[in-house]
Amino acid sequence: MSRVLVIGAHSADFVWRAGGAVALADEARVIALSYGERGESGELWKAEGQTIENVKQVRHAEAEKAASALGAEFRALDFGDYPLEVGPERLVQVVDEIREYAPAVLITHTDTDPFNPDHPVAYAVVQRARSLAAGAGVASAFPSITPPQLFLFEPHQPELCNFTPTTFVDITSVFDAKVEAMAAMEAQKYLQTYYAQRAEQRGNHARRASGRSEVRYAEAFQRVLPQVVDRL
Ligand SMILES: [Zn+2]
Repeated sequence: MSRVLVIGAHSADFVWRAGGAVALADEARVIALSYGERGESGELWKAEGQTIENVKQVRHAEAEKAASALGAEFRALDFGDYPLEVGPERLVQVVDEIREYAPAVLITHTDTDPFNPDHPVAYAVVQRARSLAAGAGVASAFPSITPPQLFLFEPHQPELCNFTPTTFVDITSVFDAKVEAMAAMEAQKYLQTYYAQRAEQRGNHARRASGRSEVRYAEAFQRVLPQVVDRL
């Protein structure tokens, strides 16, 4: 069974970058470290008299709707954004989330993003929390889980974010669900066309890499850890 956990800096990150992979999972959970209420909700701030609390509520509702279109649960840790700060107590919270869900696959941001102050912070926290939850894959003085595979989802400008695709997921069969999830994120409507185009382009790359002519839409991921297989 594939149990997938996506941890994003902001509440909408999972939709654009891993919505298809989430929809394909047997079971999936999405955790947002923040709502992206300050840095990624520009449309909402155009409303007169807007407040942080209201923006957070709207973003929570949007992310829940998107997650449910993909068949996933949504949880928000509400750490705040721009800047996202994760001290020792919050790190332990993230460790507990990973340990409690015990995913087979964990997905987060790349370690570099010159356009976003929070995405690399999320990477660092998730990477560290994963190691703490899994106890480096050996017996430890604390409860640990089987080490989840770690994948990075595709950032907005991959070349500048230290991102090289190593894995394409064929999302053709769930593309309608991804479109529905993207449509739920009304505060960032401008990204819907962009990521639909990206899925088509990655579909082209996936066809060329595999010869699987039926792939129309794909998502790209970067595998961080070696894959362990019984044979090549
Ligand atoms: Zn983000």
